[in-house]
Amino acid sequence: MSNAKSYIESVKDTIQRRDPNQTAFQEAAFTVLDTLEPVLDQHPEYIKANLLERLVEPERAIQFRVPWQSDDGQFHVNRGFRVQFNSAIGPYKGGLRLHPSVNLDVVKFLGFEQILKNSLTGLPIGGAKGGSDFNPKGKSDSEVMRFCQSFMTELQRHIGPDLDIPAGDIGVGGREIGFLFGAYKRLNGYQNGVLTGKGLTFGGSLARTEATGFGLLYYTHAMLKALGDTLTNKKIKISGAGNVATYAIQKATEYGATVITCSDSDGYVYDPNGIDYKVVKQIKEVERGRIKEYAQRVETAEYHEGSVWDFDTNYDIALPCATQNEISKDQAKLIAKDRVKYVCEGANMPSVPDAIATYRENNIYYGPAKAANAGGVAVSALEMSQNSERLSWSFETVDNRLHDIMDNIFEMSEAADKKYGLNQNYQAGANIAGFEKVAEAMMAQGLV
Ligand code: GLU
Repeated sequence: MSNAKSYIESVKDTIQRRDPNQTAFQEAAFTVLDTLEPVLDQHPEYIKANLLERLVEPERAIQFRVPWQSDDGQFHVNRGFRVQFNSAIGPYKGGLRLHPSVNLDVVKFLGFEQILKNSLTGLPIGGAKGGSDFNPKGKSDSEVMRFCQSFMTELQRHIGPDLDIPAGDIGVGGREIGFLFGAYKRLNGYQNGVLTGKGLTFGGSLARTEATGFGLLYYTHAMLKALGDTLTNKKIKISGAGNVATYAIQKATEYGATVITCSDSDGYVYDPNGIDYKVVKQIKEVERGRIKEYAQRVETAEYHEGSVWDFDTNYDIALPCATQNEISKDQAKLIAKDRVKYVCEGANMPSVPDAIATYRENNIYYGPAKAANAGGVAVSALEMSQNSERLSWSFETVDNRLHDIMDNIFEMSEAADKKYGLNQNYQAGANIAGFEKVAEAMMAQGLV
C-alpha cells in the first residue's frame, strides 16, 4: 500500500473510532478522502502535517436547546446545531436546514461538503452548516416565527458578518431568513451581512433565489459543451419541487430542454409536454401545497405516488434536486437502463456511493453536488460583497457572474481530472480542485 493510501485508511479509522454512528458524515468524508490519493502522492508534506485528520474534524460544533410555543399554547423543545467546519479560506458559510432528519451527523456531512463546495466557487468563504430537527411542515407563520426567534436567541452569539454567515437550505427560505434576521437585529443591531438569502428590501441579492437551480443548469451546460453535446431537445427528469428544482426547471426549459418530472416526498408528476415552473412555484412557494395539485391544474400531467427514480421511461439527463440519498443503487441501475447519459446533482449527496459507482460502470457522466449546486452559495457570497459595499447589483450582473463561476467550477474540475489522468471523473476532479486551495491555505497558516 502506498504511503498516501495507508495514511487515508488511518484517517478513516480515526473517523470511525470517534463517531461510529455518524454514517452520513462517514459516507461524505470517505468519498472525498478516497479521491485525494493522487494529490497526497505529490504532496508528502500534507501527510507530515496530518492535514486530512485536521480537515475532517470540525473547528467547532455547537448544539443547543430551542424551546418554542405552538399556537395552542403548548411548549416544545427542538435541538439546534451549527457546525463551523473550516475557516482556512474565509469566514464560515453555509445554510441552515429545518427538517426532522437533522442531527449532528447530517449537519457534519453537509458542513464537510460545504468546505470544498465553497472553495470551488473561487470566493473567500469557509465551510459550515446548521439547522434543527424542527419540522416546519404544517406549522403556522407565527409558529415558524417564534421558532426562528428562539433559534436565533442562541445562534446569534456564534455568528457575525466576518465570522459565520448562515443562509437557507431545506425548510429555510425567504420567510425564515426574514424572521431570523429580525431576531438577530433586536439582539445585536442592524448588521446587514450576518445572513444571506435576505429579502430584496433589506439587503438581499437579486438572483439569489434562482441561483442554485440556474447554477445547476449552467454547470450541466458547461459539462455537455465540453463533451460536444447541448441541452437543446434533451429530456430531463428532475426530482424535488422546492427552490432548487423550480429554477432548474425554468432554466432547463430556457435552454430548449423538456423537463418531464418533478416531485415531493409523497409522489411525482409526469408531463411529457414539459413541466411549467410557474405552476410549481405557485403550488409550492406561494400556497405551500403538495405537488399532487399540479396534475389537477395541468391537463397533460399525471400524478403518481412513490419515487420518481422508480418510474421507468427513456430520457437523457437526471437532475436530482430533492434530498440526500434519494437515489439507491437499484434506482441508478434503472437510470442506466433508461439510457441516461448525464447525472448532475442539485441536492446535496442525492446519490448513495453505490449509485455513483453504477453511473461510472455505465459510462454516465456525473456532476457531483459540491460542484453542480454551488451556485446558491456562490451568489450568497456575492450578496456578502454587495452588503459590504452597500450597493445592489442588477439581476443581469449577478446572473452573469454566477454563470462565469459555474463555468469555472466545471473547468477547474476538468483540469484536475486531466492533470491526474482520472478519465473524465468530474467527481474526483471537483474534490481535488476544491481541496487544493483549502490545503494550501491550511499549510500557510501553521498548525491550527
Ligand atoms: N444551502 C445552500 C448549499 O447547500 C446554500 C448555502 C449558502 O448560501 O450559504 O450550498
